[in-house]
Amino acid sequence: MLLLIPGPVQTRPELRAVMGQDIAPWDNDFRPVYAGIRDRVRDLAGGGAETHATLPLQGCGHFMVEAAVRTYTAPGARILIPMNGAYASRMERLVRECGRVPVPLPVPDTRPVTGEEVAAALAADPGIGHVAMVYSETGSGIINDPAEIGAAVRNAGRRMILDAVSAFGALPLDLGVQPEIDVMVFTSGKCFEGMPGIGFAVARIDRTVASAGNAGSWCFDLSDVYTHALRNSWGSFRFTPAVQALNAFAMALELHAAEGGQAARLARYQENAKLLYDGALSLGLTPYLERKHQGPVIVTIHQPADRAFALQAFVDALKSRGVLISNFHNTQAPTMRIGAIGAVTATDIKFAVEAIGATLDAMGISRREAA
Ligand SMILES: *Cc1c(COP(=O)(O)O)cnc(C)c1O
Repeated sequence: MLLLIPGPVQTRPELRAVMGQDIAPWDNDFRPVYAGIRDRVRDLAGGGAETHATLPLQGCGHFMVEAAVRTYTAPGARILIPMNGAYASRMERLVRECGRVPVPLPVPDTRPVTGEEVAAALAADPGIGHVAMVYSETGSGIINDPAEIGAAVRNAGRRMILDAVSAFGALPLDLGVQPEIDVMVFTSGKCFEGMPGIGFAVARIDRTVASAGNAGSWCFDLSDVYTHALRNSWGSFRFTPAVQALNAFAMALELHAAEGGQAARLARYQENAKLLYDGALSLGLTPYLERKHQGPVIVTIHQPADRAFALQAFVDALKSRGVLISNFHNTQAPTMRIGAIGAVTATDIKFAVEAIGATLDAMGISRREAA
């Protein structure tokens, strides 16, 4: 099966093979593997050994976003969120349920937020301490630019939390030149093409130390993850992790480096996304985004107007041809979402586009313009 969803993604067989071992997380053979992952991740994010630390947690991206919000902001803090997609909406809910105050900045889910918009919102509300932003909006496929938004945040003397869950590993990020970013978070199962199960934060050490006591949660306190590492070594996890997934992540980092790192991975995903975008047009379908706003992570396509189209039936029929896409959409208009990330190449995407065309034909979908 070809998995074309924006996480968990298609993985390589040598990575899956690493999962087939029983290991103990605290074993002295494994500790250096975990400590090495933390160093490597910090380096890839542009963090310095003196300034930044990798602070992992068990679990998924939402857990990391919650941990970031809880750790780096105090209860009652006002947090500006550019609202251009489904993951921004999830962030708004997380922020509220953590007892912080989300300040939504309305932006359509078809384009990135601009530095001017963020600067204006910050100028209008001096009580806002942090901007929390989604880098790659996996709802629609747009990309918000952390360099541009970060500059606006820095100029306003505020701080930033970055959800880089479906971005980091493929899209560029250099924390070394963005001191306004307290923390960025991502997971093992997206652009690093690892197994799901481990979340990562890369955070400023000074802010992590200064934030002790904010979290109101032991499990989600990244400052506690930091002090635990100081006390018990960088090879020690606080509670039992998905250790096989963590071990496989070391292989994922090796495969990432062997491919040529972030730039090479971005180039492959960009080609995948372009083939999907062009393929949709060639089949008479309408992509959701203008080409200039189409990111490399996920391509969303308007569901066809034809009365014979139903998303779940289409997804099932396409699956019988060997391609699995999402069976839900979370754009403002009804769409199909197709992942461009994972261990997939142009050959796989061409196969998928043919399968999509054959499925539409077999279902008798002739009116293919946007519903
Ligand atoms: C995938 C994703 C998440 C987290 O999803 P989980 O299902 O909790 O792993 C958060 N933000 C973005 C932008 C994502 O793409």
